[in-house]
Amino acid sequence: MRLSPNVSTLQPSATIAVATLCRQLRAEGRDILDLSVGEPDFRTPDFAAQAGIAAIVQGFTHYTPVAGLPELRAAIAASMERQSGGTIDPAGVVVSNGAKQALFNACFALFGPGDEVLLPAPYWTSYPDLIALARATPVVVRTGTEHAFKVTPAMLEAARTARTRGLILNSPGNPTGVVYSRDELAALIEWARAHGLYVISDEIYGRVCFEEERAASVLDVARVDDGLVVIDGASKAFAMTGWRVGYSYTSSELAAAMTALQSHTTSNIATPSQYAALAAFRDEPRVEHAVRAMVNVFRRRRAKALEMLAAHLPDAEVVPPAGAFYAFVRVDRYFDERAADSIALCRRLLDETGVAAVPGAAFGDDRFVRLSLAAPENDIAEAIRRMGSALAPTTAGRES
Ligand code: PLP
Repeated sequence: MRLSPNVSTLQPSATIAVATLCRQLRAEGRDILDLSVGEPDFRTPDFAAQAGIAAIVQGFTHYTPVAGLPELRAAIAASMERQSGGTIDPAGVVVSNGAKQALFNACFALFGPGDEVLLPAPYWTSYPDLIALARATPVVVRTGTEHAFKVTPAMLEAARTARTRGLILNSPGNPTGVVYSRDELAALIEWARAHGLYVISDEIYGRVCFEEERAASVLDVARVDDGLVVIDGASKAFAMTGWRVGYSYTSSELAAAMTALQSHTTSNIATPSQYAALAAFRDEPRVEHAVRAMVNVFRRRRAKALEMLAAHLPDAEVVPPAGAFYAFVRVDRYFDERAADSIALCRRLLDETGVAAVPGAAFGDDRFVRLSLAAPENDIAEAIRRMGSALAPTTAGRES
C-alpha cells in the first residue's frame, strides 16, 4: 500500500508494542513479570473518578469548548499558580487528549519543513515521531551516565545550526529519571532565548520526584511567552492515564493557534474526563495526599531495584533516578552472540525469564534497557533476580 509521506516512516510506539506483547503472552498463560509499564499501578483517586461518573449521570456528555471547560482551565491555572508562585493566565491553558496530544499540538504549531529541533537523548520514545509529524528534523544530542543524563548549553550549542528552531526538555525525564535543578533550567532557557529558539518543556512527571516535593519547572525561572510551552496533565501524577487529560500552557496567541489545530482533529477531550480532572485540580490537598502516598511507594521500589541491581547485575550501570518511575539500566556489558543489542536482549529476557523490559533503542540509546517501577516491589525484585541468573553466566564467561 502506498502511504503518504506523513506516516510512511512512522513506527508504532515501542513501549506500547511491548505492553501489547505482554498482554498476549499472559493470555497464553505465560508467567510474565511486566516491567515495561508506563503508567502508575494505582487507582485514580476515588473522588475524581466519582466526579467523572456524576458528570455522565447528570448528562454532561456533550461538546465543551475545544480548549476545555473554562472552569477546568481556571482550576489548572490556579494549581499551576500554587506551584510556580507566578500568575498563570487561563487563556494560555489548552486541555488536550493527554500530554501526548498537547505535545503534538505544540510541535505541529511551532515546527515545519526544514526546521531542526534539538532533542536530548535518551528521550521519551514519541518525541522524534512527534517532531517528524510536523515534517521537522529531530537533532539528537546524546548524554550518558557520565553526564548524569543532563544536557548543558555547551552541548546544545555544538548541535545548533542556522535551521535550529526548538528544544525539547523533559524533567523529570522518561526513561532516565533525570531532574534538572532550577539553575540548570535557567541556563538552558537563557541559552535558548539568546538564539530565538522555542522550548517545549514536558513536565508530566513533575510531581513524581524523589528528592523534592516537586521538580523545578521552567516557570520557576522564566515567564511564559511565545517561545515557551509547558506540558503537563493528570495522567501520571493522578494515576489517570486512561482518562486522557493533558494540557499545554503557553502564550494566549500560541494557545489560540493550538486550539484551532485541535478544533480540526479531536475537538474537546471527553467531557466526563474533564469533570473528573476538575475535581482533582480543584481539591489540591486531597490529590497531594494521594500523590505523596504513591511517590513514597515508588521511592521504596526504587531503593529495592537499586539494591537488587547491585547484587544481581553487578556489571550493569544505573544513575539513581531522581524522578519519574523508571530505572534506565546500562546493560551493554551483557551483550553477546545471543543478544548483541537492546532489542535482542529484551527479547531474550522475555523468552527465557518472562521479564518484560523496554529496549533502550526505543529511547535513542541501544546500550540500555528501561525497567518500570510501576509494578509490585516483589515483582521488581524477582524480575531483577531472573535477569541476573539469565545474564550473569555471560559475565562469568567474559571474565574468565
Ligand atoms: N511525556 C512523557 C515523558 C511520557 O512518559 C508520557 C507517557 O508515557 C507522555 C508524555 C504522555 O502522557 P499522556 O498519557 O498524558 O498522553
